[in-house]
Amino acid sequence: MLMEDRLHAVQEAIAQAARRAGRDPGDITLCGATKTQSDDTIRAAIAAGLQVCGENRVQELCAHLESDAYAGAEQVHFIGHLQTNKVNKVVGRVELIHSVDSLHLLQAIDKQAARLALVQDILLQVNIGIEQSKGGVEPEALEALAAAACSMEHVRLRGLMAIPPIAYEPGANTHYFVKMRQLFVDTQAKMPHNRCSMDCLSMGMSGDFEDAIAHGATLVRVGTALFGPRPAPGQV
Ligand SMILES: *Cc1c(COP(=O)(O)O)cnc(C)c1O
Repeated sequence: MLMEDRLHAVQEAIAQAARRAGRDPGDITLCGATKTQSDDTIRAAIAAGLQVCGENRVQELCAHLESDAYAGAEQVHFIGHLQTNKVNKVVGRVELIHSVDSLHLLQAIDKQAARLALVQDILLQVNIGIEQSKGGVEPEALEALAAAACSMEHVRLRGLMAIPPIAYEPGANTHYFVKMRQLFVDTQAKMPHNRCSMDCLSMGMSGDFEDAIAHGATLVRVGTALFGPRPAPGQV
């Protein structure tokens, strides 16, 4: 299938999932997860109408910025694990960082954003499946971290992000999406409204984005369904 056809199929599936849930399709953002994709593939996706690119690795982000591969996209997001010592390569170069999960990382982002005299939009990543192998703040520690984010001058808390465990059957992650939506609503209510504007709930990937939309996602991160299967690790 052509890139254009795959993109339109995903956009249509998003719109239908939104309508089924009684939601406005325009309220859901598609973020293309571009990890391992070439400059040319990214350019083709943008030419076909992809507006938001989500990058996982700092090295790939820098390479694609260098070669201007995102030209024409409205936004670039950072969606992968971010190490504190790489913050300077990301802050101010992307519209939204999805994966903030510690006070240490928050402070490093705030400091670099202050240095650049800007405000960096961020999401807090929640380890909703409480998996050892995954990043994200544990649900019990979320409120304190959100309060810390809201107290910072150069960080704007825009919402929450989650990567639930791999789902082996349709609907397997529904309960995680429901929990995330509740955490989102609760955190929204508890934070000072003049200090943060939480409007983004980033959850749902190729295998489960329709389910995520049914349960309140405002942004879905889709890789495989747009770009096809990725090469196995080691072959890249
Ligand atoms: C790769 C990736 C995605 C997209 O995964 P697919 O299953 O290929 O759609 C979404 N979010 C993050 C953080 C990713 O790393």
